[in-house]
Formats: sequence, C-alpha cells, structure tokens
Amino acid sequence: MAALKRYQHYINGEWVDPSNDEWIESYNPYSGKPWAEVPRGDAADADRAVSAAFKAYTSGDWPNVGATERGALMRKLGDLIAANSQKLAAIEVQDNGKLMAEMGAQLGYIPQWYYYFGGLADKIEGSVLPIDKPDTFNFTVHEPLGVCVAITPWNSPLLITAWKLAPALAAGNTVVIKPSEYTSASTFEFVKLVEEAGIPPGVINVVSGYGNEIGEALVAHEKVAKVSFTGGTVSGTRVYENAASGLKKVSLELGGKSPNIVFDDCEIDNAVKGAISGIFAATGQTCIAGSRLLVQESIHDEFVDRLITLAKTAKMGDPMSIETQVGPVTTPPQYKKILSYFDIAKEDGAECVLGGSKSDDPSLEHGWFVQPTIYTGVRNSMRIAQEEIFGPVLSVIPFKDDDHAVEIANDVVYGLASGVWTQSIRRALEISKRIQAGTVWVNTYRAVSFVSPFGGFKRSGLGKESGQHAIREYMQTKSIWISTAEEVPNPFIIR
Ligand code: NDP
Repeated sequence: MAALKRYQHYINGEWVDPSNDEWIESYNPYSGKPWAEVPRGDAADADRAVSAAFKAYTSGDWPNVGATERGALMRKLGDLIAANSQKLAAIEVQDNGKLMAEMGAQLGYIPQWYYYFGGLADKIEGSVLPIDKPDTFNFTVHEPLGVCVAITPWNSPLLITAWKLAPALAAGNTVVIKPSEYTSASTFEFVKLVEEAGIPPGVINVVSGYGNEIGEALVAHEKVAKVSFTGGTVSGTRVYENAASGLKKVSLELGGKSPNIVFDDCEIDNAVKGAISGIFAATGQTCIAGSRLLVQESIHDEFVDRLITLAKTAKMGDPMSIETQVGPVTTPPQYKKILSYFDIAKEDGAECVLGGSKSDDPSLEHGWFVQPTIYTGVRNSMRIAQEEIFGPVLSVIPFKDDDHAVEIANDVVYGLASGVWTQSIRRALEISKRIQAGTVWVNTYRAVSFVSPFGGFKRSGLGKESGQHAIREYMQTKSIWISTAEEVPNPFIIR
C-alpha cells in the first residue's frame, strides 16, 4: 500500500512535527480509505503556535506593516488562492466528500473575502470627539486584539477559514488556525501560499489535532485574546465556557434547525428547488440547512408530491464527478448519527416518504452514503424537528396561516437562517421581520457573500462574520485624551 501523505504543523513559517510524534489518519469519505496523516497536536504544540503568533504580534515585521500594506498582502494571498483554486478544491473533496461541482466554485469565490477585507484594512477610521471639556483633545483609534484562534469544522474548511482569517488579518492581528481533525489537509495546503504572498512568519499558523486536546489548550492559552469558533452547539458552549475564565472575546457560529417556509402564493417550481437546495445540497451537512420545511396546508400534498419527484432524480456518487448531486457524509460518527435519527423518527411516528436508510447502491458500499430522506406528518415537537441532524433528512411540517407559520418557525432553540417562499412583498417583509434568525432568504436559499453579515440568533451563536462590521469583531477601541491646558488643575477631583 502506498505511504500516506503526511502533513506537519505550520508554526512560525516552518513545518514541524507534533511534539508527541502522534498522527491522525485522514479518510476519503467516498472510498472509506485513509489517504493522509495529520499531527495529533497537544498542549505543547498549542503553546508553540500561540507563542509564535504572540511574538509576531509584538515584535518583528508585522507590527510595522501598515494597514494599506496589509491590504496589499491580503490581495496577493487572494490572487494565489484563485490561481490554486482547483487544486485546493480537489483536496477538500478528497478529504470531506463535498461535491467538486460546489467546491470548485466555492474556492473560486473565497479570494473575494481577502480582497474585500484587504480593501477595508485602511478604511477603519477613528473619530475626533466634540469633547465637553475645556483645553482637551479627545480621539479614538481602533486597534487589533492580539492573537486570535480560529477553530473550524469539517464541512467547509477553507470558506470558514476565510470568514475568520480575512477580517482578523485586515485588523492587524496574528492567527492560529485549528481545523477539524477530519479535514485538516486543505488548510495545510492553503497555508503554503502564505509565505509566497509575503506575509511574515508567525502571523498565520496552522496546527491540527482533536478539539478536546489541542483545541481546548488553544482556547485556554493565556496569550490568546480572541477565539472564533464554528461547529456544533455542544462544542461551542464548551469553548465559550473555557474562554470565559480568561475573559477572552468570542465569536461563535453554531448549529441550526432552519425553517424554510412555503406559502400557497409561491411559485411552486422555484420553491420545490429551494426546498431541495436547502436540505440535499452538501448532503445536508451545513449549518444553514433548511431542515424544517413548513408548507401551507392548502398546497401541502401537491408540494410534497413534486418534492419527492425531484428528490428522486438526485444522483448519488463520486463527489469528484461533475454529474454527482449528492455525495457521501464526511465522517463515520456523523454517518452513524444520521442513521440513528431514522429510528428516532420512526419511534416518534413520522412518515418516511423517501429514503430513510443508508444507500443500497453496491457501487457506493465503501463510502458513507445516506439516502436523501423526507418525512411528512412531522410535528414541530418531534426530535427530528428540534435537533440538528446535519444530514440529508427533511422534516415537512404543515401550517395553516402566517401566524401559525411564524409560531412554528420560532419554536426552536436555534436561530441561524430561514427561507420564505411567496410572491407577496407585504408577506415577505412581514414574515422576515417576525422570524428569529440571523438570515432570511426570500425566494432563494443558501446564498452567502463577503458583503452580507452572517451569524445566528439564540443558540446559533454570537457575533457576525462577513460584511463591513465583521472586522470590528477583531478590534478594540481606544480613547486617547490630550490636555492642552497650561497647568494641571486641582488633582483631587475627577476631570
Ligand atoms: P464540533 O463542533 O465538535 O467540531 C468543530 C471544531 O471544533 C473542530 O475543529 C473540533 O475539533 C473543534 N472542537 C471540538 N470541541 C472543542 C473544544 N472543546 N475546544 C476547542 N475546539 C473544539 O463538530 P463535530 O464534528 O463533533 O460535529 C458534531 C455536530 O456539530 C454535528 O453533528 C453537527 O450537528 C454540528 N456541526 C455544526 C457545524 C456548523 O457549521 N455549524 C459544523 C460541524 C458540525 P475536532 O473535530 O478535530 O475534534
């Protein structure tokens, strides 16, 4: 058997082995076989990476790189990602099983985050304040935080890295990235471009390993100023608790159970496609999955028939093939988790009208394939309607009218995203205002952009990524006072 490709940690501009010399195999979800090894980092590696990032933040070249120059370096990095996009996309597909059709386009789009935030780097202006004190000049400056830790999940490693790294760098911070141990390879390949872009050593570091080992050590490290995490709500809560002891700044982008609401005045063909893209794209392994499909009673049966007809045409197969529409699940635990929900749905009395098991296609037996699945007769209180499954499993829930739709949509602990399908502008705006979620898509689904803020309400997270104010999540404001008085007045009273 050919030797597995081995990746090392990237710390202070150098490739280094993990201090314990332990490695984790990385699997191809389509073949079910290991293809690479990544370091199983521990607390010692976390300390090496954070110390390098801290040194780069406080001394060396980076503190003297002005905002305009940072922007230029980031644009160069964006250009390099664009030039290597197909290679990076192929590694993502090999490691996480997402479709080449999607990852090729996604990698082509990722440079935009580096261009956008690179352009923003020298446009963050402080203010001179009309201060109410005589002989006093007061102004504000917005400064970086220091060392930022970016923890990313397995579903879209390089896109989510860009959402964190681009604003962090533009603000002048240094960064340690910890990808999921299932999908670290693409982040290691990406970081090879950093040196070529001319970004000084130590500014961007990448270490891999388990969340409860190196992940926790990074979050707890005393020299870390900020943690930006994307992943499940259970892990995110733990990160929040661990960061609290050091009063670190935290951004959390967590799970969802997003309602995709179809009114009877919608354009049915488009809404059917919107329901499909909400749940079967990325094999449902996306935080924004429209996993609760709320359909108005008057069109419920017709809509479900059309949905099943279209879903049945989904072609499962090799994610590298451009023809494939539904790929494998990324990890064995995730595969088992999804299958377990089929029993849960049965116990709860939901009716399975499509799928409901692993794939029975012998040509896919080595990979972790789950059939696109649709349940009807779902009550919003059922576990399949309340818990994030993170797979191609759709719960269809009927509703009577607008109030009923909003009541069901908001009756969940999450609040990440939502969809509304209607031809009425009045209804679109009214429902958008009433939904408790950070994103509402009207007559579309699963659209993201570097321009538009993204982040959850309720237990879907804290803070925003993308959009102009995302850079403020990586900055702090300082107020500077200058007295022009000739004499210091009475020192025993507050000014
Ligand atoms: P996790 O949330 O556990 O993993 C996300 C990242 O966090 C990984 O890099 C992980 O490392 C790391 N991590 C985990 N625990 C800690 C910790 N205590 N401190 C620091 N870092 C940590 O996702 P899972 O893979 O366990 O998936 C579980 C569920 O989470 C899924 O079934 C899905 O419902 C949800 N999920 C949501 C995502 C989203 O985009 N919102 C993305 C992924 C999962 P490592 O994996 O290497 O241990």
